[in-house]
Amino acid sequence: MAVESHWLVQGTGVVPGIAYAPAAWVQDLAPVPQDDRVIPEAEREAEKARFGTAVETVAQRFEQRALTASGVATEVLMATAGLTRDRGWTRAANKLILAGRPAAMAANEAIDGFVSQLQALGGLMAERTTDLKDVRNRVTAELMGVPEPGIPKSTTPIVLMATDLAPADTAGLDPHVVVALVTAEGGPTSHTAIIARQFGIPCIVAVSDLRKIVDGTPVLVNGSAGDVHVGVPLAEAQALVAEDGKRRDKLRAWVGPAATADGVPVQLLANVQDGPGAQKAAKAPVEGVGLFRTELCFLSAQTEPTVAEQAAIYGEVLAAFPGHKVVIRTLDAGMDKPVPFAKIEHEENPALGVRGIRMSLANEGMLDRQLDGIANAVAIAGEAKTWVMAPMIATVDEAKAFADEVHKRGLVAGVMVEVPAVAMMAKQILEVVDFLSIGTNDLTQYTMAADRMAPTLADLTDPWQPGVLRLVARTAKAGKKAGKPVGVCGEAAADPVLACVLIGMGITSLSMAVAAVPAVGVQLGEVTMDDCKAAAKAVLKARTAREARWLATEALAKSKEEDDDDED
Ligand code: PEP
Ligand code: MG
Repeated sequence: MAVESHWLVQGTGVVPGIAYAPAAWVQDLAPVPQDDRVIPEAEREAEKARFGTAVETVAQRFEQRALTASGVATEVLMATAGLTRDRGWTRAANKLILAGRPAAMAANEAIDGFVSQLQALGGLMAERTTDLKDVRNRVTAELMGVPEPGIPKSTTPIVLMATDLAPADTAGLDPHVVVALVTAEGGPTSHTAIIARQFGIPCIVAVSDLRKIVDGTPVLVNGSAGDVHVGVPLAEAQALVAEDGKRRDKLRAWVGPAATADGVPVQLLANVQDGPGAQKAAKAPVEGVGLFRTELCFLSAQTEPTVAEQAAIYGEVLAAFPGHKVVIRTLDAGMDKPVPFAKIEHEENPALGVRGIRMSLANEGMLDRQLDGIANAVAIAGEAKTWVMAPMIATVDEAKAFADEVHKRGLVAGVMVEVPAVAMMAKQILEVVDFLSIGTNDLTQYTMAADRMAPTLADLTDPWQPGVLRLVARTAKAGKKAGKPVGVCGEAAADPVLACVLIGMGITSLSMAVAAVPAVGVQLGEVTMDDCKAAAKAVLKARTAREARWLATEALAKSKEEDDDDED
């Protein structure tokens, strides 16, 4: 039998794990209505009613699926049902219908208008266009009387492939059938990645030449490396999957607390965005909250919540972690996280403009009111150890002014290290704050001058980039010298191998999405502190991100080899 040659395509691995199954492409071709009729005036109300029925049918289908889903999947499906009925786009479509456009054309034109607006905003908002396009395709299919686009039906395992996955597709999938997700587009924060993390199935995004893989081809997906292999011999693939199965069993059994193999404790914390999220996190093996992204509570708040309203929201998070550390981050509005009540005039380059602390200061009194809200929450629900930090700090003066305000309220004050200048000035900044928390997502974006949401720049927005690692090492060293904590709360903390490197550098806590905690905990438990230190030293010799990852993996493999020798 001829042996198929081996080749691979590469993207950004967002959920680790190995899977092997035939590729199955999502039918993501949108139904294209071509109907240039002008609907006679007398029939327009009926056309509008037909549109209303289609919208309602699609929304109800999402709700039905939400009933049989669980966790994030339910939330995603309910949110998409809400988006289907959204007044903004349906009103725009109705207006077009009443002007004579056929309903399917009107639905497309109305949604495409919103999609272009969101795309112009870029970042997180641009990623959300996938949701809107999915609604468009389903409503259009309903109006045209053709089947809804979506996931291929299968009862045997498949690796699902798509240009990008709609949240409704990913939310409804069965992880026993879909054993991995691979998309040509999408970023690490896309719904695809979020859902894959929840299901614990390997996931790779931003694979530019994914279309080379044709439907039905058996593929081996390596979610840690970001590789999709074609032509791997069956026996080899099966052995790799079985080995990975053992790893997954260990993850399921892991209960924390985290420590290295030689018993050095490592503080693992959760990233949360509201009270319900904090309550869920409190059930996970974490020791507190390392990043409470307060702006995510307010993405649809048209007016600024009062101090009392803010205190109630923050209090919910504090109440979930009595006796534990909770790091509250003040509003990080701007760029990809538009908070309606925290606004400034149009900016040409919002990622480098007024965001984070700059936005809080640009809106008079906003920072003070938020700090008062936090202080009141502490007074009411204050059994947690509350730390407060500011995003997007760039100078020692900003750090000092912020810390003074936090200290006035009797709280522990820190700043995020997201701007490279702060990493360079870590020593001086540590003289005025109590702790630092490195936001590797933005630190990478600003160090590499590469938009963190751009799928085509995923190789640059990689925290393994040696330039980024050097800044992190420098900051950790400054923390050690000052005797003050330096944590990491960006996505880098959720990468098990990188987590070991960070600990080896002297980072004192790692904060991540709850779903990522067991993988990091298990990995830390398999290596000694000395090996983490060796890995931290090794990566500083790397010239590329790939080389850095390889050097770290090699250094850490020593612990594993020693373990295996012990077993012999
Ligand atoms: C970061 O930049 O790494 C971070 C944690 O902040 P956010 O992702 O919310 O910008
Ligand atoms: Mg950030």
